Amino acid sequence: MRLSRYFLPVLRDVPKEAEIVSHRLMLRAGMIRQQASGLYSWLPIGYKVLMKVQKIIEQEQNRAGAVQLLMPTIQSADLWRESGRYEAYGKEMLRIEDRHEREFLYGPTNEEMITDIFRTYVKSYKDLPLNLYHIQWKFRDEVRPRFGTMRSREFLMKDAYSFDLDEAAAVKAFQRMFVAYLRTFKRMGLVGVPMRADTGPIGGNLSYEFHVLADTGESEVFLDKDLLDKPVPGADTDFFGDLEPIFRDWTSLFAATDEMTTEEAFREAVPADNQLKARGIEVGHIFYFGTKYSEPMKANVTGADGKDTPVHMGSYGIGPTRVVPAIIEASHDENGIVWPVPVAPFEAVLINLKAGDADTDAACDALYEQLSGAGLDMLYDDRDQPAGSKFATADLVGIPYQLIVGPRGLKSGEVEIKHRKTGERETLPLSGAVERLRSLIEPQRMTDI
Ligand code: ATP
Ligand code: MG
Repeated sequence: MRLSRYFLPVLRDVPKEAEIVSHRLMLRAGMIRQQASGLYSWLPIGYKVLMKVQKIIEQEQNRAGAVQLLMPTIQSADLWRESGRYEAYGKEMLRIEDRHEREFLYGPTNEEMITDIFRTYVKSYKDLPLNLYHIQWKFRDEVRPRFGTMRSREFLMKDAYSFDLDEAAAVKAFQRMFVAYLRTFKRMGLVGVPMRADTGPIGGNLSYEFHVLADTGESEVFLDKDLLDKPVPGADTDFFGDLEPIFRDWTSLFAATDEMTTEEAFREAVPADNQLKARGIEVGHIFYFGTKYSEPMKANVTGADGKDTPVHMGSYGIGPTRVVPAIIEASHDENGIVWPVPVAPFEAVLINLKAGDADTDAACDALYEQLSGAGLDMLYDDRDQPAGSKFATADLVGIPYQLIVGPRGLKSGEVEIKHRKTGERETLPLSGAVERLRSLIEPQRMTDI
């Protein structure tokens, strides 16, 4: 992408309304624009990151056997009356009336709707297990929308719903999502720590929240440090095999939010050297809730014995529009964002130090063609602007590698690469630039870890 033809409205000043670093950086880097309290437009460079995050989520959901569909944002109130949640949900739900005075709502989640789809088409145990998911906008009229897209009113959620004949099969479905989540966050360059979470009035112990550790996190969390460098299950994991050993291995180490434990219990349970008390951002939540919706909504399946029983369900959420700021909270420095390669808006930026100079332009144009041809996701800063401002923009926007090309270097056939994360610089022959960038970037894509 040529920057001269792109739309990257970078802000020089730090916006006053933004309290936390990810919110400030998303505004400054031209990623988002607030339209009203808790409502955001995603500008091109922000949208590009969001799409990369979603792609990873989709790939890992599909790998774990979930099937993608798309449900509407607007739902009928009657559907929610069936489960009893229409009255129970309270003020977070945005209620809407159409011109015929029929009652609707802007969906805060989709358990009722997916249960309705399920009961319409699936009647037999032979069609199970089934896991259906979508990535769709949700609306929750949060009391205090804040921190940009971290806690907004309209936000994207990937929500998956599993259907199984009985609890034993549902536990397996839960474990598939558990492993998928470990892989999903890892592939975004994050550590998503699974923490025991509240199951509310339904009870049971199958509820885990995935947290990214950051000082600005809204939850207080307690964990065993060893969880942070545990290798995640590989792409060759058999999702329909026995995942119990992996699940047990991960959940045997202590990790819980303050809703689920006390500091004393934590100090007692974890060896002193391994204790980590921190703050966490909830980026995902997986939950087994049995027949809570299938019973009132009469979503029954016939078992092998010919008997009808309510289907066992679980739901599995990730908030892509919260994941993006969470990555920034976990990865930035005083100059701006430091994107991990798999979610970077562009993998590298080619900086032309003297746009308008015929020789420099020719060399840069040729390089840009070759780099793009080599499959690198490139931004090309071809604007006629001072070098200092180009460097500042590249740093702020957080592109992992800068390939710097100017007339002086070109005279001796040389260019420079700057590593955004470490600040390290290397000078190399122009002819080796494409190969060098490829060799730096490709191993970090983590497409098949
Ligand atoms: P929180 O406790 O942060 O309010 P929640 O527990 O109500 O979230 P869930 O119903 O578990 O949220 O939703 C699944 C996921 O959707 C969350 O883990 C989070 O990633 C995302 N999410 C929920 N609420 C918001 C919001 N207001 N803004 C952005 N993302 C959200
Ligand atoms: Mg939650």
